[in-house]
Amino acid sequence: MTSVDTIAAIATPAGVGGIGVVRLSGPEAVAVARQVFVRPSGTPLAHLESHRVYYGYVINEHGERVDEALLCVMRQPRSYTREDVAEISCHGGVLTTQRVLETVLAHGARVAEPGEFTKRAFLHGRLDLAQAEAVIDLINARTQASHRAALQQLEGALSRQLRALREQLLQVSVYLEVGIDFPDEDLELVPLDELGVRLTEVASRLAHLLGTFARGQALREGLATAIIGRPNVGKSSLLNALLGRDRAIVSPYPGTTRDTIEDALDIQGVLLRIIDTAGIRMTTDTIEQEGVRRAREAVERAELLLLVLDGSTALTTDDHLLLAETAHKPRVLVRNKCDVAPCWTPAALGLSETPCLAVSALQGEGIEALEHALVQHVLGPEALAQDEVLLTRARHRQSIAMALQNVQAAARGLRDGTPLEFVAFDVTEAMQQLADVLGESCSSEVLDRIFSRFCIGK
Ligand code: GDP
Repeated sequence: MTSVDTIAAIATPAGVGGIGVVRLSGPEAVAVARQVFVRPSGTPLAHLESHRVYYGYVINEHGERVDEALLCVMRQPRSYTREDVAEISCHGGVLTTQRVLETVLAHGARVAEPGEFTKRAFLHGRLDLAQAEAVIDLINARTQASHRAALQQLEGALSRQLRALREQLLQVSVYLEVGIDFPDEDLELVPLDELGVRLTEVASRLAHLLGTFARGQALREGLATAIIGRPNVGKSSLLNALLGRDRAIVSPYPGTTRDTIEDALDIQGVLLRIIDTAGIRMTTDTIEQEGVRRAREAVERAELLLLVLDGSTALTTDDHLLLAETAHKPRVLVRNKCDVAPCWTPAALGLSETPCLAVSALQGEGIEALEHALVQHVLGPEALAQDEVLLTRARHRQSIAMALQNVQAAARGLRDGTPLEFVAFDVTEAMQQLADVLGESCSSEVLDRIFSRFCIGK
């Protein structure tokens, strides 16, 4: 695939900064760079060496200086897009970068669409689709763990696994084809039982990969976590203790936290999107009723609940109601105000199977243990292995789940003596699903949808 036009965009974020980069890619990238860039003496650069930085000035089509800048040209295929790329590092600032961009546009480049540089890298085979998607994740990563997962995927960890599985399926399919083409001859190169074993192996590896999705998703997007409890148990104080800064209003009067507040919490590299809610209780105050309604909504929306109870007073009807109402959700119980003599014990609740952590939001006691429990909830009992590949995208999960179904059906077919044509069909379908994740056969609509989620300039 060769691109016909040359694209350009400001690759650095909008706003004021030390440096702003305008990036060009395409067949005319070097020619445009040569036209807009001159040496300090004002003379054009006769020859632009690849991967070398030049100092000089950007001049517009009227020969006026636009900015003092550095230019680096990366000739194909040794560039991000595998096309000729030119990067002009000018002074940061909205106007300067905009003017440099306008200058290159005036010389024939066109404005790049969001993600178009990465799309070109994909279309030229520099990245597969799973890797290209990892670029978005890497840009958006907010915690160490999600950053690591994205980088692994960008480096091709997931792609390698999928290619290896596809290779195994391909071998099985070749043997099946032989069986189909020469049914009467004794050409069973590999016994059908053995093919069944291979398919079962592939199935178990696909199933393992699927099992990582919940964690991968939680790492990538964060886990929606609602802090719930009746008024005055210390929800806002707990949120503040977790956030380490005052964000929610803490007040001794019930019903002050009337709206919901969302904040992201980075606990040991794991992202929790915290939804603090108004206390849930029966009330006649209409504003507070609205708060209660939202709190119930938050409970439904949340993937994890932090149910706060006040350890310093006896449990009320509202507490018991909440405990019963949320029993179906993943939750961590918190017995707050452990700095005061406890009025009840978790055992007395009859909820010994659910963790109930004693904390003092006010004094910070037990907060670390609570954080640990939250991280464990996301990552599972074993900490994340350095090289474990996690599925992070619904698109990947869907394809891999279908591939798994196909492989299982094929293995079943072999066992049950189904005609080999049908078995081979299932194996081919499974390979197709894996190819989809890698983007080897995606429609242009799917590609457009994926790349449009990128920012401009990437
Ligand atoms: P919310 O209505 O559940 O959000 O509760 P708040 O966070 O506003 O706290 C209600 C009251 O309990 C405030 O007076 C807090 O100072 C107090 N409080 C919160 N956490 C603790 C704690 O760990 N120990 C003690 N002794 N008081 C606390």
